[in-house]
Amino acid sequence: MKEKTTEQTERFNGLFRQLVSEMTQIEKINVLLIEKMLMEMCALFRLSKTETYLYNSLEDEKQGKGERLSCHDTGEGERVLFFRIVTSILTVATTAVYMKPDVRPLSDEERSMVALVMRTVLHFVSRNRFKRVIERLAFYDDAGYRNLRSLQNYNRNVFIEGRHNSLVVVRYNLRHFSMINRDLGRKAADAVLWNHYKLVEEKAGKDGIVCRLDGDNFVAVCRKEKLDGLLACLDEANIIYDEKEGKTIGVSTSTGVYVIPDSFTYDTHDEIIRNRVFHSYLESMNGKQGHVVFFDENLSRRREKIVRVQQVFPEALRKKEFFAVYQPKYNIKTGKIIGAEALCRWRHNGALVVPGEFIPALEESNDICSLDFYMLANVCRDIRRWLDEGRNIVRISVNLSRRHMIHRNLLEDVIKIIDEYKVPHHYIEFECTETTTDVEFSVLQGIVSGMHKLGISMAVDDYGVGYSSLNLLRGIPWNAVKIDRSILPLNEEDAISRQLTVVLKHVIGVIKEIGMECVVEGVETQYQLDLLRQMDCDVVQGYIYDRPLTVEDFEKRMQTNC
Ligand code: C2E
Ligand code: MG
Ligand code: MG
Repeated sequence: MKEKTTEQTERFNGLFRQLVSEMTQIEKINVLLIEKMLMEMCALFRLSKTETYLYNSLEDEKQGKGERLSCHDTGEGERVLFFRIVTSILTVATTAVYMKPDVRPLSDEERSMVALVMRTVLHFVSRNRFKRVIERLAFYDDAGYRNLRSLQNYNRNVFIEGRHNSLVVVRYNLRHFSMINRDLGRKAADAVLWNHYKLVEEKAGKDGIVCRLDGDNFVAVCRKEKLDGLLACLDEANIIYDEKEGKTIGVSTSTGVYVIPDSFTYDTHDEIIRNRVFHSYLESMNGKQGHVVFFDENLSRRREKIVRVQQVFPEALRKKEFFAVYQPKYNIKTGKIIGAEALCRWRHNGALVVPGEFIPALEESNDICSLDFYMLANVCRDIRRWLDEGRNIVRISVNLSRRHMIHRNLLEDVIKIIDEYKVPHHYIEFECTETTTDVEFSVLQGIVSGMHKLGISMAVDDYGVGYSSLNLLRGIPWNAVKIDRSILPLNEEDAISRQLTVVLKHVIGVIKEIGMECVVEGVETQYQLDLLRQMDCDVVQGYIYDRPLTVEDFEKRMQTNC
């Protein structure tokens, strides 16, 4: 008997060492060999059956919805040992061994040996099988879409495998998806989103990938040769949302495309996916070039310039590199200066930078608000000095970015600056560009009314550039409307100018009839000036009278022309 035990222990030791060695292989695990060894273990300990269950969740376990694994099953028996583990991601694995009643029961030593094998198997199985679950959690979002981590993994793999040439990144957003949600309901809209994703995935091909960033924002990567098909599908696709009734809806997207240069390294590749495509997408949302925007090196350079401005701005502001130039506004009838617009200039590294080079970059964040407040303070300081010097002065307009509209304390902040310099409120006017959304509209209404009460004049800037809504004029107590130079006719000959003349005449008519001051900016020629005089425009601002002037030149102009 003693000999038998020693023989069994020796066999067990050998088998167990082999089993552990096989289960901990790094390269490739030989499942068949492992099963063979386990079967031998069963024979060694007279077991009739082994049974391992894997459950993806505690709930699945409760409902008995698991995956069964068994390497040895000679029919029912009595359960003699059972182990269960719950992993940190709440998946469950159980294992049990059975013996027929007519065989010799396990001795204590045998029990501990079998238990050791079972625990080893349990760890092995749960580690390997639940890798899939973990992958699912890591690479897919809750709704089952691939996520950004999936994309990074894909990116790494294409580089490791040398498949990174000829790739295109496409960032897209479903157009009007909130409307689809509202009109079809949540469930159908979810189906639209999912089926659209599946279609794009198909178009991106097996060596491509599609991931959801959030909501209805996606990124797809595919080979160049697949791009045309992918874009056609993104441009317009009929998506089924009710299988039973065969109901479909047309879905289109706003899309940014970046063709990745083959010379790019892994890091730049990764960067493109994360940042550049996002920005090309933003460009596409401006809608200037239809629904698809190709993000090329030009766009990339522009982007880099914007980022540079954003980086140096705080320091430049601290060093007071920004200053105001003043462009007079003239009463068209009397030829006298009745006001002026303060325009920002930036002296940076010895060069003079114009607003077109830095305002758009600052408008991407609240930096523009800091600049506007800084400009207002500068203007107030100049006005204060002019008043103290006993000069004859005019009202000065300061541009106020649309970004301010989200500031709850805008009125207080503005008044604090103006009052700090003890500037009478009627010497200040703010110019705001027109807004398009309802939310902003009501906020704008509140701000303009508030300024009105404080005796500060408000003007609509660049009227005629955007949608030029009549509501904007009707619902808000503006003091003045500044018509943009883009609707100023150049001459009386060409068709566009003839059309613009009609538009301009009526726009001026509406503004005057509502009782607001009408200012036209960008007036450059005598022809335009005569035309505006005929149309009964009140005020003009433009190169025909003056370019934006330095503060010294403006002071001289005020002295002679007010
Ligand atoms: P804006 O407020 O519509 O200002 C008028 C722009 O038209 C100015 O350009 C001005 O120099 C230019 N301009 C005036 N007369 C003529 C003309 O006869 N012909 C032509 N071609 N242009 C004329 P500027 O100074 O380059 O400013 C561009 C824009 O930058 C401004 O347009 C305004 O939107 C923005 N900006 C300038 N300073 C500030 C500021 O302090 N804060 C904010 N938020 N925006 C500013
Ligand atoms: Mg302006
Ligand atoms: Mg303007």
